[in-house]
Amino acid sequence: MDIRRLIERAREHPIRRSKDTGRTLAAGQQPTALFITCADSRIVPAAITGAEPGSLFELRTAGNVIPEYRPDECSSEMATIEFAVVGLRVPEIIVCGHSHCGAVSALHGAALDHLPTMRGWLSRHHRLPEAITSIDPALRAEGQQHLLNQLRALETYPFIQDRVRAGELRVHGWFYDIETGDVLTPAAATAFGPL
Ligand SMILES: [Zn+2]
Repeated sequence: MDIRRLIERAREHPIRRSKDTGRTLAAGQQPTALFITCADSRIVPAAITGAEPGSLFELRTAGNVIPEYRPDECSSEMATIEFAVVGLRVPEIIVCGHSHCGAVSALHGAALDHLPTMRGWLSRHHRLPEAITSIDPALRAEGQQHLLNQLRALETYPFIQDRVRAGELRVHGWFYDIETGDVLTPAAATAFGPL
């Protein structure tokens, strides 16, 4: 999509939206879910779910990587999760992995020499392979395993565990197939019990 079209749409946006919608949104937010996914441009959470403004509190990271909980460290990711779970008290968390993921590719050997920050980010949370391995270009199996690893990372957050145990919060693992548009819920992605 051309940048000029993006600018035109942004200018038209206030005209297309009703005043009532604006007043409702300005009054505050009570999102249905914290939606954690990759920064990949091919994933549009509102298009996948049909979510209206105010429904999804989004956290997008390179490779939908979720750092383990470390109370002595601050990160944008941990702060966003804390705000959604403790501050906004969202009742659902959706972690959405995807096929054809560049970060998952890097975790399986794709070269990152020209992306030192990405390499540092991924190696901080995962052990990077020494050599390139032969893999399916869609990376479906690898991406689903990667999703499970992120769900395990969420289990290290004490305030998430507390609210899950209290029956106030559910955690869902989704896997979005870029090619088919399917949204899968891998059976093993029930880190906190049935979805
Ligand atoms: Zn990705």
